[in-house]
Amino acid sequence: MVAFSAQGHLNPMLRLGKRLISHGLHVTIATTHLQPGRRLFKPSSSSSATGHDIDFLFYSDGLDGRKVDIDTFMDSLSQHGPTNLTKLIHQNYHTAPSDANNSTGTRKTRRRRRLCCIVSNPFVPWAANVAHDLGIPCAMLWIQPVALYAVYYRYYRNLNPFPTLTDPDLTVNLPGLPPLRTEDLPSFVLPTNTFGAFSKLFSEMFGAMEKHASWVLANSFHALEADVIINSSKDLFPVVPVGPLVDPSLLGKGEEEEADGAVNLWEVDHSCMEWLDEQAAGSVVYVSFGSLATLSADQSASLERALKEGRWPFVWVVKGTEAGELSTSSGGGQGIVVAWAPQTKVLAHRAVGCFVTHGGWNSTLEAVAAGVPMVVYPQWSDQPTNAKLVEDVFGVGVRVRENGDVKMVVGSEEMGRAIREVMDGPKSEQIKGNARRLKIAAGEAVAAGGEGTSKVSVRKFVDEIVGR
Ligand code: UDP
Repeated sequence: MVAFSAQGHLNPMLRLGKRLISHGLHVTIATTHLQPGRRLFKPSSSSSATGHDIDFLFYSDGLDGRKVDIDTFMDSLSQHGPTNLTKLIHQNYHTAPSDANNSTGTRKTRRRRRLCCIVSNPFVPWAANVAHDLGIPCAMLWIQPVALYAVYYRYYRNLNPFPTLTDPDLTVNLPGLPPLRTEDLPSFVLPTNTFGAFSKLFSEMFGAMEKHASWVLANSFHALEADVIINSSKDLFPVVPVGPLVDPSLLGKGEEEEADGAVNLWEVDHSCMEWLDEQAAGSVVYVSFGSLATLSADQSASLERALKEGRWPFVWVVKGTEAGELSTSSGGGQGIVVAWAPQTKVLAHRAVGCFVTHGGWNSTLEAVAAGVPMVVYPQWSDQPTNAKLVEDVFGVGVRVRENGDVKMVVGSEEMGRAIREVMDGPKSEQIKGNARRLKIAAGEAVAAGGEGTSKVSVRKFVDEIVGR
């Protein structure tokens, strides 16, 4: 598996890796070390360092530890990644089926194994070209909802009209999805998009995928996105849901965070778990904006005031880098502030009644699998579309608005209203009911020993790559 070294990319890769191992495959994740200044992720190439039965191999991004901006990083990665990954593969594996006779099955002899498939990740699209050049089949793991796959695919392949500078408010109608207004679209498809590196990346990704990928696997499940999955299978490159990759049966059960298959790039602060034990069922608001998004001082202040005024006990993840530091660094007795939470354990705790989230797809799916309703306060990228799904397709939460309009900074009253709507407002029973129903469906899709849709798809995928 070739992973982009970011928290939201590694978690689904590791979780899929765990599933593949349960089907008898051996899994290695190849990635680059994080950029300097980021913390912690330095597992050795032995699996024992991570608590997973997955090996790690590292290749160079060509920067030799230099700290650069994201555009330069992406350029360097796509320039040096293919050569360095190819070298790494040659050093560690056989790539031709005829070499398989020399393979043996023990961990110690990993160097003699035959590589049967490369699973790439959207941010390393060139991995599909490497697989092709080596004559190895390739799959891509799509780490966002199928809805986003359909949106991006149709946008980058010009299959449907999208907003332009001359028609910026065009509503986008796509098969299997509710009408999407500008505020519901991912930032990268808007005419105002300024992230050139990502647009280039998505174009390359669909090109490499159509040319060289044999499968696109998605971290979603049929019951969650049935309409868009069915409609996409008619006229897009087929996508196979294999999620939720977070294992609903393990949620909250592990001694350590690795139980759910995740790895943490930051030190996990478990102090909130004991505190949660003392809180009433369904009373706590959990606040986290994922690994990348940082709230502005105004956004933080508004949210803090809303929590105080609403008197909800809270667990709030405030990363060290956050601009608007929470004024009550201790949470002031009403809540607890941590720099990085054991998120899936928190979500699975009976005390948590609401998740205020940026709507990153891992977080969203973890909440779905745990049956926790959401207040979504999207910041950029796919998050606005995920918010739309949460509110209007899954029916398991609301998006933060001010007088009905989407705003980057909303007042504390509006923020409080959104939380109340999920906790105990008129719609809350319906929202909680939907969350319970989807939690069950998530479990059924992947249950061990079951015949759930995602479980069957992973088995078929494994049978195909092993049979080749
Ligand atoms: N996460 C965590 N502890 C935290 C905050 C986040 O373990 O305090 C994990 C979370 O469970 C999820 C990932 O970090 O798996 C964040 O991924 P997501 O796609 O939600 O957001 P991103 O970080 O990519 O914006």
